[in-house]
Amino acid sequence: MSFNLQTSIDYLKGVGPNRADLLRSELGIHTYQDLINLFPNRYLDRTTYYKINELQRNSSEVQVIGKITGLKEVAQKRGKRLVGRFEDDTGAMELVWFRGQKWIRESIKLNTPYVIFGKVNWYNGIFSMPHPELELLSEHNKSLRSSMQAVYPSTEKLSNKGITNRVLIKIMQSLFLETKGHFSETLSEDLIDELKLLCKSDALFNIHFPKNQELLSRAEFRLKFEELFYIQLQLILKNLIHKSKIKGFPFETVGTYFNKFYKHHLPFDLTGAQKRVIKEIRQDLGSNAQMNRLLQGDVGSGKTIVAFMSMLIALDNGFQACLMAPTEILSVQHYNGLLELSNKLNISIKLLTGSSTTSERREIHESLEKGELQILIGTHALLEDKVKFKNLGLAIIDEQHRFGVAQRSKLWKKNTSPPHILVMTATPIPRTLAMSVYGDLDISIIDELPPGRQAIKTVHRYDSNRLKVFRFIRDEIAKGRQIYIVYPLIQESSALDYKDLMDGYESISREFAQPDYQISIVHGKMKPADKDYEMQRFIKGETNIMVATTVIEVGVNVPNASVMIIESSERFGLSQLHQLRGRVGRGAEQSYCILMTSHKLSQDSKVRLETMVRTSDGFEIAEVDLKLRGPGDVMGTQQSGVLNLKIANIVKDKSILQSARFYAKRVLDKDPSLGFPEHRDILNTYRALSKFKNIWNYIS
Ligand code: ADP
Ligand code: MG
Repeated sequence: MSFNLQTSIDYLKGVGPNRADLLRSELGIHTYQDLINLFPNRYLDRTTYYKINELQRNSSEVQVIGKITGLKEVAQKRGKRLVGRFEDDTGAMELVWFRGQKWIRESIKLNTPYVIFGKVNWYNGIFSMPHPELELLSEHNKSLRSSMQAVYPSTEKLSNKGITNRVLIKIMQSLFLETKGHFSETLSEDLIDELKLLCKSDALFNIHFPKNQELLSRAEFRLKFEELFYIQLQLILKNLIHKSKIKGFPFETVGTYFNKFYKHHLPFDLTGAQKRVIKEIRQDLGSNAQMNRLLQGDVGSGKTIVAFMSMLIALDNGFQACLMAPTEILSVQHYNGLLELSNKLNISIKLLTGSSTTSERREIHESLEKGELQILIGTHALLEDKVKFKNLGLAIIDEQHRFGVAQRSKLWKKNTSPPHILVMTATPIPRTLAMSVYGDLDISIIDELPPGRQAIKTVHRYDSNRLKVFRFIRDEIAKGRQIYIVYPLIQESSALDYKDLMDGYESISREFAQPDYQISIVHGKMKPADKDYEMQRFIKGETNIMVATTVIEVGVNVPNASVMIIESSERFGLSQLHQLRGRVGRGAEQSYCILMTSHKLSQDSKVRLETMVRTSDGFEIAEVDLKLRGPGDVMGTQQSGVLNLKIANIVKDKSILQSARFYAKRVLDKDPSLGFPEHRDILNTYRALSKFKNIWNYIS
């Protein structure tokens, strides 16, 4: 073959230096390869030709055959427009140009058959088509065409400089002519056979010039599969390399601590999901590789016991373990919970936070270095330089969103070799997203709540129903329950949001007046001591209602609180609504979540509210969130590189992603170095991708 896909587009017939510069700057197309990967946004029907008397006022894009019988300039407010009279045997219409008039006047052939294509308007009693695509009928009949015509992504600058969609199609045609439509295969034969994929050349031809709908669908499938396949291959390979390079401490035995706890001290039967996840973790810890695992599980799914049992395995092998949480409240909660369990096994455990005293710290530092202290729980304080473990074997991090990657690796530096890492999160990341972004982290999912939990009843109520809601609150309080009422505080500094909160507080105080009712209020502008005082009153049950901003999102655990009322809930994001709702439903009583809104709701708000009412499955909620907000917003900009897909869409093409992952895994299981002859095309493609694209450098 005489061409090379890395050839610069300057050399392609019909491009030339000016167009090449524009293609580079506007669409990032440098080479033949880039051009062939410029996939159409959509396709137009070019099988039908309309007569002028068949045009409708609401016709969309149409094509008509006829002749231009005259051209005239018409003055308008600013400048002038060029108007052409276009006729067929049924009638006449107008073609209109506001730009590029000189070129049109010079190149148009009057009274010669043309095919015109574009959107029609009904204007001044006649149909008109602004800036039509024009092609001589004689050329039209000759050109490489398909019934479905590609519409390529474009920019305003491109079309203003004359690189219209038709020009792009011409350029694409010339690429296919020059390459004869032969492109090297990029997947292995057995994959192509097994999945009945189009070969690469056929897929590329049909994505640009579809012969029919079926071939277009197959072309799309093949190219999406390929794109996702190579991302997965990359992620899995990275994981394999990581595992072979970074040796972890192999925890060979599951010893006395674990077994004794399992047999005698387990406070409840583990759920199936908890058992499965513990098994996954145990397998990791027993291998030679360092564990790097993400544990996802909704609020209340029981991650803590999994963390504790994992720590017991470390202890059984003579290592220390630590658990780090983002806030002091959460660390204390963990500590109190685990202290009780540890005491039963005679395990030494300590808490280290910002409020630990100097003497407490000194004691912790010493016993930690000597190896006498087995488990350390705490906040960021664990990352201080003075904290040195004798042999840290397992580090567990709760709520990963609040710790940066850099901070995490600080834990590593304390050891000669890195400890096993388990990251726990209650903010579910949709499986598809996790798979494509965290594909190189192992993931465990607890997708089952402990038995006997009552589902929280969630309803949507308009502000106009407030009186009924008040009545409901009164009934619940009469039964001895406590109530949260949460106001949005989108910006810490927003005066308006504070006004809403204070207005709300006042009206609640009037409605639920002392001495019959006691109300707490907590918000970000209060002094920490005051906040704590109000919080404690509610926790102790001295107040019936807690009026708050989202500061209560993390950490508050009041099992007697059974109603969560979220004011202006249309202003909250889905994951925040879900987290807030997780504050109730912690006791034995039926719990409720009431989403208050005004009558004015955007389409997205409606979807969010309906989702909350329909389900309490965090993963399902996360999927909807992903659809509404897009992967970039859900994950933050950090990882958006990998989401920069050319043709696949991780929201819509979930099942293709799953299958791509499955087959990538299967290929690497058989042939981790891609050395088999039948994997030659895969190896070559993989190498070329890693060389030419830097999208692989996204995860630190
Ligand atoms: P989270 O995943 O939110 O950290 P926790 O570990 O705090 O959840 O567990 C929530 C509550 O459920 C705790 O009170 C815990 O004791 C209880 N729990 C956990 N697992 C089970 C189980 N298998 N059966 C019954 N209760 C459980
Ligand atoms: Mg927890």
